[in-house]
Amino acid sequence: MRAIFFLLTFITSFTLTAFQSPTPTRIQLPISNLQSPILQSSLTFESFSVTHTFGSQITFNVTAKSDADVTAAAVLMRSGDSDRTEVIQASVTPSKNFKGQVTRELQAQPISPFTTITYSWRLTDSQGRTFTSAEQTYTYDDNRFKWQTLERGAIIAHWYTGDLTFGQYIADTGFKSLERVSRFINAPLPPKVNVYVYANLNDLQSSLRLIGRTWVSGYADPKIGVVMVAASPDLIGRSDLERDVPHELAHIMIYQATRSGYDRMPVWLDEGLAVNSELQPRPDFAAALSEAVKNNSLIPIASLCGSFGNERAHLSYAESASLVRYILDRRGGAVKIKGLLNAYRDGATCEGGVQQELKVSLIDLQTDWQREVLNSNPLLDFWRNAVPGLVIFVPVALIIALFIFVPKQK
Ligand SMILES: [Zn+2]
Repeated sequence: MRAIFFLLTFITSFTLTAFQSPTPTRIQLPISNLQSPILQSSLTFESFSVTHTFGSQITFNVTAKSDADVTAAAVLMRSGDSDRTEVIQASVTPSKNFKGQVTRELQAQPISPFTTITYSWRLTDSQGRTFTSAEQTYTYDDNRFKWQTLERGAIIAHWYTGDLTFGQYIADTGFKSLERVSRFINAPLPPKVNVYVYANLNDLQSSLRLIGRTWVSGYADPKIGVVMVAASPDLIGRSDLERDVPHELAHIMIYQATRSGYDRMPVWLDEGLAVNSELQPRPDFAAALSEAVKNNSLIPIASLCGSFGNERAHLSYAESASLVRYILDRRGGAVKIKGLLNAYRDGATCEGGVQQELKVSLIDLQTDWQREVLNSNPLLDFWRNAVPGLVIFVPVALIIALFIFVPKQK
């Protein structure tokens, strides 16, 4: 009985040692382990490749050689700067000359265009050992188009319609805008910004369809340093670039200033600063504002703290731009903007940031802005101020006039 017990103990300890999984390693060289001859298996990753159909799916491929059958495989992937690692299991035919493939669908779980994907393969062999490859990167670009590329400073311009002169114009506009915006929004320049110029709005919006931005005329993904706009290679397109490139670069710079606080930034401040960075005036916004004032249909600023949505988006932008201009011109200027950005970076609420920096509630800020900017039509102001006096003066004047000018009966 005692002999059987010792035998069992020996077998158990041997089995545990033999099948203990090693710490996951990068590309494996043959492993020698003096404790057990069973651990002499090895696996070598031979190739990695990725292809994608834009807006549909990404396919990951791997080949590996192993001295034991590979029985399970998975891709571990992160997109952009996401903390979350997705695990995508492959269906596997066991083999020593292993070829693996997995597909990640994009319809249900879209990925932003031009995001860099970081991934590794994890293979398991018939002995239960795991091998994890070194991390690989892949850019999920909009490969429906053949992009040309040109750099100036931190700006990398990409375009697919128009000649090199147009490409240079994009790079120059981006360079000039980034310099200007970085003075306007005090923050360190990003190391690189990729500016993708689509030839028309249709192409741009179809690119952003899966991430739900079908109505925008420009888009920035500050976390990955990507700007997407639409402009044709002609004079109208150049004017569009001067409006949209500085606007989107302002979002990049606001992210540089606020980092992890960017998602909490009130949208009226983010968009208001972006519109004020544009190199072209926006008469359409002035018209929208005076129309809203006339109809008494202004959107409360408190409703512009979160996302605008596409209903009344135009007026939302117009109000945000005007309010930020008001802060810049009459409520302390760039110093206060910097203070607001710092407050939101540090976690202030929409209301709290305004109270902390401008010493006023959001509703009072709105009242001041409406009174000092929107209702400050000089003619209107004159009549508003004059009316109380006129109420007394006009009847008195009429009575005096009657005495003077009505002919007396003889
Ligand atoms: Zn914007």
